[in-house]
Amino acid sequence: MLNSEHMGIGMTSQRTRDRLITRLSEQGIRSVEVLEVIRSTPRHLFIEEALAHRAYEDSALPIGQNQTISQPYIVALMTEVLLSQGPLDSVLEIGTGCGYQTAVLAQLVKRVNTMERIRSLQEGAEQRLRSLGLRNIEYRHGDGYVGWRNRAPFDGIILTAAPREVPKMLLEQLAPGGRLVLPVGEDGQQSLQVISKSASGFTSESLMEVRFVPLQSGVMA
Ligand code: SAH
Repeated sequence: MLNSEHMGIGMTSQRTRDRLITRLSEQGIRSVEVLEVIRSTPRHLFIEEALAHRAYEDSALPIGQNQTISQPYIVALMTEVLLSQGPLDSVLEIGTGCGYQTAVLAQLVKRVNTMERIRSLQEGAEQRLRSLGLRNIEYRHGDGYVGWRNRAPFDGIILTAAPREVPKMLLEQLAPGGRLVLPVGEDGQQSLQVISKSASGFTSESLMEVRFVPLQSGVMA
């Protein structure tokens, strides 16, 4: 459970949140666990106050530094796909951003390792997630292209920014049976892919067209 003093009511009323959950399940999200976590996660605390009244709309919103918080449907879908083979112990997330996807994951898996290349976003997310009482998250300011080798292997890896091609080093950091969920492709023509690692190699499946900010190399202070 999240720290309840932050839950907030009023313009972010339970009814508004319930409407979002109805919409997500109408769009095909089936996992009750994922829907419940999204219902109880205060998305309005992850965006600036001026936009907080739009927090429970199913849309992406700006979070500063030219980045966006993902659309709830995409967060729900990627989380559902990541967890579709059962519960996971360890997940690597690349692109912490404001930390919303991180918060959803942390309530569903044992341990989340999250990386962000822009320091101010990373620090903001860390502060927010700590004050929500989430303790099973390890943060790192760094370039996600190379993954997090000394915490690997991971049962799941999720990217919230799109590389042009699947980064090889991330495939190497997947545990046997693990899966990588990511948007891949050039700006304007990205697809959401799931890559599974088995004893005989990798299989990949393309789910839908998506629009994400690009994965960029190097770190920013
Ligand atoms: N899940 C986030 C999405 C933020 S947008 C949220 O809900 O807020 C994607 C994020 O990926 C941005 O914050 C961007 O700075 C970060 N990013 C882009 N390239 C990266 C890289 N190579 N390593 C780590 N983070 C990266």
